[in-house]
Amino acid sequence: MGIFSRIKKLIGLEQQEVFRRWPASELEEKKVYLENKLSEEFTPEDHYLSAEWIIQRYLPEGDDPTPEQWSEIIADIRQKIDINLKNAAVGELVKIEYVQLEPYVITKEDFLKDVVPTFSRFDLLPDPYLKDSQGRELWTVLFEFTQQYSYKYGEAKDTLIFFCDAFQAEKLVHDLGRTYTALRCAQIEGSAKLEVVCSSKQCSDCMSLDGNKMAVEELLSAFKNEAPLFPHPLHLEDEVSWCPAPYLSPEIPLRMGDDTEFYEVLMKILER
Ligand SMILES: [Zn+2]
Ligand SMILES: [Zn+2]
Repeated sequence: MGIFSRIKKLIGLEQQEVFRRWPASELEEKKVYLENKLSEEFTPEDHYLSAEWIIQRYLPEGDDPTPEQWSEIIADIRQKIDINLKNAAVGELVKIEYVQLEPYVITKEDFLKDVVPTFSRFDLLPDPYLKDSQGRELWTVLFEFTQQYSYKYGEAKDTLIFFCDAFQAEKLVHDLGRTYTALRCAQIEGSAKLEVVCSSKQCSDCMSLDGNKMAVEELLSAFKNEAPLFPHPLHLEDEVSWCPAPYLSPEIPLRMGDDTEFYEVLMKILER
């Protein structure tokens, strides 16, 4: 945080901003709005909105920042945007290459081949080949939860309620899909290792790996051998449970022209 915002905050001029997670419909709405706007017509607010959109889209659920963290993050981002807009106005902005954020998106085929076989390890997931009342195999219903945001979550949960704890199943399958996707992305992007970044949610075994770097190939083959390291089942007394995957931070090499400061801010947000 800059000195001026620090002072403003001290004397109460700066109001704290609260992070509000956008529902899927709003995320989609804002995407349509931004996509339909010509870049020449972008106002500073549109740029702020694009930045928040990226955060809303990629920040894992449950990792919402506190008002204090969020006020600081968003103020930093807006300040950077303002600086870049000024630079652009005088023709000093470094053109950057388009950075593709998702080199890999999980497919039904990969889900069936590499993720569904891991279900048997988790007591809280139903037999993936059971059929629902419409004759659909349950794994196709569970697949919905690997999609980043989907209006079909509700429908899928309504179906699964007859077979398992639908709420837990949603969280677990989402986590499996997210972790598998992170590994495949890292592989495609050429990162050999991922850093394990734990939060307060992981078990003590995982916590002991916090900060360690693990080989992408090793983590991926554990997945393919039906025994993923993250997430993994927990054997608590009388309780069917699981330990959520830590954030796996890829060692992505910065490319020429990348904004190192923005990159660091984004990585910090994602690692929390
Ligand atoms: Zn999510
Ligand atoms: Zn664990």
